[in-house]
Amino acid sequence: MTYAPKGAPKALLKESSRQIANIIDLNKCMGCQSCTQACKNLWTDRPGTEHMRWMNVTTYPGKGYPKDYESMGGGFEADGTASPGALTNMSDVGDNFQFNHADVYYQGKGQSVHLKPSSALTGEDPQWGYNWDEDQGGGDWPNGYYFYLPRKCYHCTNAPCIDACTHNALFKRDQDGIVVLDQDRCHGDRLCIEACPYKAIYYNPVTEKSEKCVMCFPRVEQGIAPACDRQCPGRTRLAGYMDDEDSDMYKLIVEHKVALPLHPEFGTEPNVYYIPPFDSTRAFAEDGSITDEGRIEISVLEELFGPDVGEVVRKLKAERKKRQNNEPSEIMDLLIGRNFWDRFSELTGDPADLDTFSTAAMSDGSDLG
Ligand code: SF4
Ligand code: SF4
Repeated sequence: MTYAPKGAPKALLKESSRQIANIIDLNKCMGCQSCTQACKNLWTDRPGTEHMRWMNVTTYPGKGYPKDYESMGGGFEADGTASPGALTNMSDVGDNFQFNHADVYYQGKGQSVHLKPSSALTGEDPQWGYNWDEDQGGGDWPNGYYFYLPRKCYHCTNAPCIDACTHNALFKRDQDGIVVLDQDRCHGDRLCIEACPYKAIYYNPVTEKSEKCVMCFPRVEQGIAPACDRQCPGRTRLAGYMDDEDSDMYKLIVEHKVALPLHPEFGTEPNVYYIPPFDSTRAFAEDGSITDEGRIEISVLEELFGPDVGEVVRKLKAERKKRQNNEPSEIMDLLIGRNFWDRFSELTGDPADLDTFSTAAMSDGSDLG
């Protein structure tokens, strides 16, 4: 539906004629945060959104963003019942550091003061923030490792945030399956935040309402890829519709089955898929020699992507071997993406042609449907 009628049953709110989706290739992400900045500049530059990063990139292993979201519950149990979840707080989602610019630049104190952040919440030294544990990673020396994990709302097919809202403020758009949060109907109860296992909804203390990634629907409506996807210099992203069988994205997800959802055990059927990191740096043996084994153990990837990831890693390695031997490999060609535009199927429009839209709609109660 374009706009959910009041009192509509939850099953109806989760229906859509089409479903937009993404792939993010973790082998290519370099943690540059271009996607994060693209989203921040476009959508969360309003009062009360300072701490929000609808698009975020963190180091894995790490606490993630929001902090420890993986252990905060939400989503569904294996039998389909809703799993209780916890609320994030303003510190978990990154705080809003303030800096002593006046002291440093305008008080004539010379070298006696230096620029330093303080927490907007406590006024004290910050105890946590976005990318606080950047690049620390995991593994035991000398076999340390990490990779980057970009995340946004997964626009889930079975979205528990829609179930949880007692005001039917959340629903899927009929034309693209984007999960939107109607600011008119939101009462700021934050039941959706508790329900989302990915903690992809954020509370705005100024408007006293919740907000989330809108999959850049004003762009998508005009055939333009979401800003975070389009902005990625690493060509990690593919975007398109799940019914477009000719798209590169569809081939990788459905035909070749090398793209996997994050934490499928949450039961929400997310629509952002990942190409798992399949060839980490070779590990050192105890005697200091270099082995043929990668430093990222399959068990680490299984925690993120479920039991199928081992087979996906084997397949990706075999396909790359083919390419190294000058044999054809459609999977490698799709992943390399020599033609940038092939990655976005129907969404190749130019943002320069975008009809003007205002992000003020996010905070003034305008209809998002
Ligand atoms: S990721 Fe969270 S906010 Fe997004 S649709 Fe799924 S449950 Fe809802
Ligand atoms: S799709 Fe748009 S709104 Fe969502 S994270 Fe990317 S840039 Fe932000």
